[in-house]
Amino acid sequence: MFAPTHLLRNLFVSLFVTVAFTACIDDKPPVVTNGPTTPKTTVPQVAVPAFNEDSAYINIQKQVDFGPRVPNTDGHRKCAAWLSDEFKRYGLTVIEQKFQAQHYKGTTFNCVNIIGQYKPELPNRILLAAHWDTRFMADQDTQNTNKPIDGADDGGSGVGVLLEMARLLNANPVDIGVDFVLFDAEDQGNDSDDGQDNSRTWCLGAQHWAKNTHIPGYAPMYGILLDMVGGKNPKFEREGLSRTFAPAIVDKVWNTAASLGYSHAFVPEDGAAITDDHFFVIQLARIPMIDIISRPGETKSGFVKHWHTHDDDMSAIDKTTLKMVGQTVTTVVYNTYNGVL
Ligand SMILES: [Zn+2]
Repeated sequence: MFAPTHLLRNLFVSLFVTVAFTACIDDKPPVVTNGPTTPKTTVPQVAVPAFNEDSAYINIQKQVDFGPRVPNTDGHRKCAAWLSDEFKRYGLTVIEQKFQAQHYKGTTFNCVNIIGQYKPELPNRILLAAHWDTRFMADQDTQNTNKPIDGADDGGSGVGVLLEMARLLNANPVDIGVDFVLFDAEDQGNDSDDGQDNSRTWCLGAQHWAKNTHIPGYAPMYGILLDMVGGKNPKFEREGLSRTFAPAIVDKVWNTAASLGYSHAFVPEDGAAITDDHFFVIQLARIPMIDIISRPGETKSGFVKHWHTHDDDMSAIDKTTLKMVGQTVTTVVYNTYNGVL
């Protein structure tokens, strides 16, 4: 993702402030009244399954083992095939949305957004997303800055959590639709401080998908984006665009995390706006979407210290963090069905 920018946020807010992205997930079944008594409507409750952090960790290791997932590379192609197969193994309906995108350095990238649909026939849906590509260079490192990074946390962690959630949904059915969207080419953007607005050099897969959603007129109840959700001692602030365009979802996720005892990670603090995949999903597809992203303030950018460096390898991953994020989002999904949220 791109460094936080208040300028961009202010522009964006002024353009779209009139768009009311009020969540429709508070919709309850209609209450039928019959005389003086009001019969209770009951929603069948489904137990929230336990998120397995070991499984999520292995999902990250598998991605890293393919090598850097930079478009046009062998590691990228092989990992894409594996991700599709994993979704299919969990019974999801898979769409490989192939497209070409122009890298800001001139190369034409062959890209693919990988979409796994859980119960595609159901109208009530939730969008869960992460980017699966990894950065082509280590521009925040001091050595080998032109070499691509492993991207265990930046890329791998969000995907690892979502694959485990796909496994859980398959094993613990619930009557709600979930679309897992793995965006390509999020992290190939121009991070130079040249005074230009380079935001559109980032999130190429999200931009393509948001203009070409896999369902025409796609309107899920809400979206949740995961990015850098595997590092040690995370700090998930309430990200700026999320607060502006999906405040009800922010509340549901942070309140759920608190109920699970994770307030030390999902801190009740407001963070800056980040240009990440959700920015384009909100702007172009008009879907209320939040971003769960760790900003512990270890770098000038606020991101983790291994951000865009060669230290973003498996040693950066902490299973405790994977559990907190995975259990929180899993609980939000199941409790949306249960009518608790
Ligand atoms: Zn990144």
